[in-house]
Amino acid sequence: MLTIDPPKRFLFGPGPTQVEPRVYAAMSQPVVGYLDPYFFELADHVKKGLQTVFGTANEMTLALSGTGSAGMEAAVSNFVPAGSKFAVFVGGYFAERLCEMGHRHGANVVRLDKPWGEAATDEEARAFILKERPATVAYVHAETSTGVLQGGRAICEAAHEVGALVIADCVTSLGGVKIGVDETGIDIAYSCTQKGLSCPPGLSPFTASARAVERMQARKQPNTVWYLDLALLNDYYGPAHRYHHTAPISNFYALREGLALIAEEGVGTRWARHLANHTLLVDGLEGMGLTMHVAPGFRIPHLNTVCVPEGVEDLAVRKRLLTDYGIEIAGGFGPLAGKIFRIGLMGPLSTPDHTKFFLDAFGKALR
Ligand code: PLP
Repeated sequence: MLTIDPPKRFLFGPGPTQVEPRVYAAMSQPVVGYLDPYFFELADHVKKGLQTVFGTANEMTLALSGTGSAGMEAAVSNFVPAGSKFAVFVGGYFAERLCEMGHRHGANVVRLDKPWGEAATDEEARAFILKERPATVAYVHAETSTGVLQGGRAICEAAHEVGALVIADCVTSLGGVKIGVDETGIDIAYSCTQKGLSCPPGLSPFTASARAVERMQARKQPNTVWYLDLALLNDYYGPAHRYHHTAPISNFYALREGLALIAEEGVGTRWARHLANHTLLVDGLEGMGLTMHVAPGFRIPHLNTVCVPEGVEDLAVRKRLLTDYGIEIAGGFGPLAGKIFRIGLMGPLSTPDHTKFFLDAFGKALR
């Protein structure tokens, strides 16, 4: 018989990340029914907490049942009708997934490709959107496969000029770095719980502007994905409270507690903490003679990508970190396989002590 006694790990990878004991404690509370008034009160707290971290007043803000990919599929299936033009900024694995979903939903996908490790410039973004004049635009705010942070302001401005909606993948950014959904002009954003929010995987925070909801309501055909149809989900989480599916209650407990921890710290303080420890980490890595994969100014503060030095085998280093120190980090994939390490400094592990502990272990494992 297998006992549930997992090994103690330090999750310094791209996610899942370290979970606070208070979040685990919340998850162990008794489950209530999916129509219990307590559950809807809880869902309301979650909505308010998500509005704060997303930086939005959007009425349609909720946690979808499923991981980050559920948020992606909800965005594409609700806001990219078959036959419409869907423009995607591609510079990594998760933008490729957005294109794949666009194809599967019958969209005419057009793409602006950048090398894995670079962001599109404002001029490139504008020229691409004005030339293509799409109905919907998508970009990945924090591309986890490369470590690039893609700014959204120029994308949103140009998209709105041609009447397009903008989808931002915020799976890695939410809770770790400012997104500013309303300030940037993002229409639809989705995320996950297991990265910048430091909760276990299972829910996908989601938000959509009034403009986007209007566009969705004007669709001639309903969403072909019943489970992620936001009109039906609105009937469940909205005042009607009409049964749609059995929400994962324990994951809502966890998310509510994770968001409460963020509120107690102050979301701005949390972003500043991630940035300060990112600087400490980069200084330490560069001090060892290593090179960061992404140019300064375009780096995700809490997901760092560093080049694997000549003559070093990345898998051997990762194995050594796991067996000797219980530290998990990730390697690269696709064109970056064997070329980069991906190091997350998120939530409870984003402290000067943990950063120094990591640098020390990483230096030894590399040697
Ligand atoms: N988008 C980005 C940027 C991601 O990093 C990930 C996962 O790492 C996803 C989407 C998919 O999320 P999930 O694995 O939670 O389904």
